[in-house]
Amino acid sequence: MEYETVIGLEVHVELNTKTKIFCSCSTAFGAKANTQICPVCAGLPGALPVLNRQVLTAAVRAGLALNCEIAERTRFDRKNYFYPDNPQNYQISQLYLPICKKGYMEFDTGEGRKKVRIHDIHMEEDAGKLYHDSEKGVSYADYNRAGVPLLEIVTEPDMRSGEEAVAFLEKLKSRLRYLGISDCRMQEGSMRADVNLSVRPAGSSEYGTRTEMKNLSSYTAVREAAAAETKRQIAILESGGSVMRETRRFDEKKKESTGMRGKEGAEDYRYFPEPDLKAVYIAKETTEKLRAQMPEFSEEKTERFCREYGLGAKDAALLCRERKMAELFEQTVSLGAEAKSVSNWLNGETLKLMAEREVADELRFTADRLYKLIKLIKDGIINNTTAKEVFENMYDDNTDPEKYVEEKGLAQSSDEDEIRELCMQVFNANPDAVSDYRNGKGRALGFLVGCVMKAGSGKVEPKTVTKVMKECLEKG
Ligand code: ADP
Ligand code: MG
Ligand code: ZN
Repeated sequence: MEYETVIGLEVHVELNTKTKIFCSCSTAFGAKANTQICPVCAGLPGALPVLNRQVLTAAVRAGLALNCEIAERTRFDRKNYFYPDNPQNYQISQLYLPICKKGYMEFDTGEGRKKVRIHDIHMEEDAGKLYHDSEKGVSYADYNRAGVPLLEIVTEPDMRSGEEAVAFLEKLKSRLRYLGISDCRMQEGSMRADVNLSVRPAGSSEYGTRTEMKNLSSYTAVREAAAAETKRQIAILESGGSVMRETRRFDEKKKESTGMRGKEGAEDYRYFPEPDLKAVYIAKETTEKLRAQMPEFSEEKTERFCREYGLGAKDAALLCRERKMAELFEQTVSLGAEAKSVSNWLNGETLKLMAEREVADELRFTADRLYKLIKLIKDGIINNTTAKEVFENMYDDNTDPEKYVEEKGLAQSSDEDEIRELCMQVFNANPDAVSDYRNGKGRALGFLVGCVMKAGSGKVEPKTVTKVMKECLEKG
């Protein structure tokens, strides 16, 4: 029998607000354990939460970017569970009146356009982090992360393969990064995906029983977990068994999952409206104002770049992957640089250095710098080899290319007297090549020009060299 895989995702995204969702503690990453906590996020009795307005705005913007309905009245709910990473013994989340619902997102897959519906987006707080020292037999709790704001984005079960789930996550990441509300780095945990998966006979209109694999932390893990779970469930059905509704843990090394616990339902959490926070009313005008400020997202931008700048689709798409890169492109072109050159520097040398340096998406150089670099090449002041050296400095420290070239004496000379001098030296050293040229062997010219370039340590301008050399040879 043929089977079809059905996948729904629950994606947690860490927002990049400066402070936590219900208190003013810093969210900065990497601080010493338990130095960014207060009575609210440490769950001390009697401490009262206050909603961070930035979180609310970010959630509405995310909802708009995913074509959701924005609630006019939203409320928080208390999700009760005991676990040592959660000092309150409950998590403030949203169940009954989430901020956004009924959205969708479309994206391209190998097999055409795909639409995935969004069930809802809700705001909640992250838990702390536990460290287990098995040698000493102790565990440590760090509550710096407790209260860091999260959005949970829940899709309908609309994906049909791990590949589609990954394509969804990529598009989601792109949109949220364009909004600037999260960096969505799976490796660093700022985006985590739970994969809900079931299988059913191909052509069936009913869903099978699903399992949930929690906290997958890379696209590869999502792909592999989906493949392994599909296989496991089909094997169970084929042998006449039935899939158990449960939460499973996927081992990214062994590439297999194991049962963790029976799936808990909403009733297990004893949800109730959070009594310490009031409902929030969002005026329609506020939502409309935020809608009007939505950025141009990567797909539309890519199309426009092709149209307005005559770029190829591949180049344009690469430039528009990150908003900052796309903006740098447009700024540099607006200063007067040729679109194709700017695109080449950004998609070529820039991406190469970004991959080499660890700080991946930090572009430190400004448009005026790149414009100057391109102009130095165009005016024949530096050649491409020198340009790469200049660029690398500019990439790391936003150095001014003109100043750098001047200070390091990298400019090519087009001083004709100097070049004529070098030509004479080269002619004297290579009389055979000179007579070859005179006997009509054009190739000899290239060789002689090369010798002059070498004699001038690569700092003589090649076009002028060719011109001056021809004059000399013709004059005799
Ligand atoms: P719960 O409240 O138990 O977590 P939900 O109905 O909210 O369940 O669904 C959670 C996630 O599971 C959603 O992403 C949804 O798309 C997905 N899902 C629901 N049913 C199925 C199914 N039969 N197969 C695969 N995914 C499913
Ligand atoms: Mg759920
Ligand atoms: Zn706090």
